[in-house]
Amino acid sequence: MKVSTVVHSIRRLYTIDPKREGLGVIADAAVAISDGKVQWVGPSDQAPDCPQRIDATGLVCLPGLIDPHTHAVWAGSRADEFAARLAGANYADILEAGGGILSTVKATRLATQSILRSHLTARLHHMRTRGVATVEVKSGYGLSPATELAMLKAADPKGMGMGVVRTFLGAHTIPKEFRHKRGAYVDQIIDEQLPLCAPHADFVDVYCDRGAFDLDESIAILSAGKALGLRVRAHAEQISHTGIAEAAAKLGATALDHLERIDDAGIAAMAKAGTVAVLLPGAQLYLRDTPPPVAALREAGVPMAIGTDLNPGSSPVHDLWTAATLACLTQGLTMDEAILGITRHAATALGLPNAGWIGVGSVADLALFAPPPGEPATTESLLQHMGRQGAQTMLISGAHT
Ligand SMILES: [Zn+2]
Repeated sequence: MKVSTVVHSIRRLYTIDPKREGLGVIADAAVAISDGKVQWVGPSDQAPDCPQRIDATGLVCLPGLIDPHTHAVWAGSRADEFAARLAGANYADILEAGGGILSTVKATRLATQSILRSHLTARLHHMRTRGVATVEVKSGYGLSPATELAMLKAADPKGMGMGVVRTFLGAHTIPKEFRHKRGAYVDQIIDEQLPLCAPHADFVDVYCDRGAFDLDESIAILSAGKALGLRVRAHAEQISHTGIAEAAAKLGATALDHLERIDDAGIAAMAKAGTVAVLLPGAQLYLRDTPPPVAALREAGVPMAIGTDLNPGSSPVHDLWTAATLACLTQGLTMDEAILGITRHAATALGLPNAGWIGVGSVADLALFAPPPGEPATTESLLQHMGRQGAQTMLISGAHT
């Protein structure tokens, strides 16, 4: 066996390997890797010989974490809006005052691609210190062909030092200049933005909701993206029920996100299509919303992933562990479901079958965490203690960067 690195003496390894039971825990474990892939997993005293050895005594090892939903490319600040909300302003008041998504659009359009890149890099590298190896990043604050393209180019995975999956979200909201001709904006997305942006994206996404895009517009946009070879996902059933979850699942959506107001037909369609539910407890908390029907999703066998939804307005949450803990506290996930939600199920939500687990043939993305002081080396301790889960060591294979 050709091996370039062995991580040994891992106190508790969570393989999250579907071929093993539960979270696939191995105590006193080792992992051997080469060529960006895991070659061997087993007890530390049986690890193959190798000159490069990493001592993981006392540490918890998980697959590099995966954040399946962010809007991490943006310029400008909406801290004033947060203050206004806390003082009692509602969404309509904020929009009236020129706030909301459109204020981020204004600032992002004015920023150069290199400024967008440097802000994004700083945000993603902070996420990496928390154990995140792969992040999904959306466009959607440009809302014109050139600015949407600039956002996607700013998120080029090359040189980022971690995995980046890019999503085209030209259908985030209707830009100001198209306020009275929304049909023309939908046409521009389909005829101009998508053909220009598709080579720089993995997914097409749409914000289907009251005040954004309706069901017919959303399906037209998702179908056009699918025809260009993009995977399908959508911001679905968040503020109001629109029927997009059922329709997008029937279109073969890889993932559907938010789902606070999904109904039984939507859940059944997701289960049938194997679509992943991406839960976003940060947005739920900041918007003081109610949780999605987690028990019904679980009952139907819909896999659940968890994202930060990092964005400058409704979910300025930079930490995936915090999102996972919130999913337990405010949405009713079990701790094992939360760990699956930021590893293997998050990978499935991004169409990455070899990420989010550790086993022969998986990508060699490993995240090593020290438990909080005095706590056992378990995911339960990590999840319970908010803000204490910095990654001690990260190995990122670059296999999908
Ligand atoms: Zn979002």
